[in-house]
Amino acid sequence: MAAKERTLIIIKPDGIQRHLAGEIISRFEKKGLKLAAAKFMKIPEELARKHYAVHEGKPFFEGVVKYLASSPVLVTVWQGDGVIDITRKMMGATFGFDAEPGTIRGDFSASRGYNLIHGSDSPESADTEIKLYFKPDEIVDYEFTDEKWLYGKND
Ligand code: UDP
Ligand code: MG
Repeated sequence: MAAKERTLIIIKPDGIQRHLAGEIISRFEKKGLKLAAAKFMKIPEELARKHYAVHEGKPFFEGVVKYLASSPVLVTVWQGDGVIDITRKMMGATFGFDAEPGTIRGDFSASRGYNLIHGSDSPESADTEIKLYFKPDEIVDYEFTDEKWLYGKND
């Protein structure tokens, strides 16, 4: 059985405007993660507020809501064992200027707030966030033909 852990990844407005969507998707593909859903859309401000509801009241809240709703994004769901931790590591630290080289933010962002990508940070937030963008029947469950080579174990 394929692992069912899922995460919501958004290529944010600067990721699309800076022509980095393919680069970012490609990194996850090469890692062996499985794309389960995708939607290209402009996020309405109201939905952006819901998306960042955990940050309501913080000084950057209004700014990050406007940023997320400012231009189209690619909203995706990825599936696999440990996918939340793996994608968070691949994204890097929140701000591009101090994210490690080799991470998406570390390689492509030097900004404070514009950091190319959103990724859920826990199974609970993944569950809540996925439901904001996708109906259950829009998430596709399938097997890769090389699954055993991608997820092989020695124990
Ligand atoms: N953000 C910001 N200023 C801050 C903190 C966060 O502009 O001081 C923005 C940034 O785009 C970040 C988003 O708000 O990605 C959500 O913040 P969070 O702490 O959840 O960071 P993330 O999980 O994206 O690394
Ligand atoms: Mg976060």
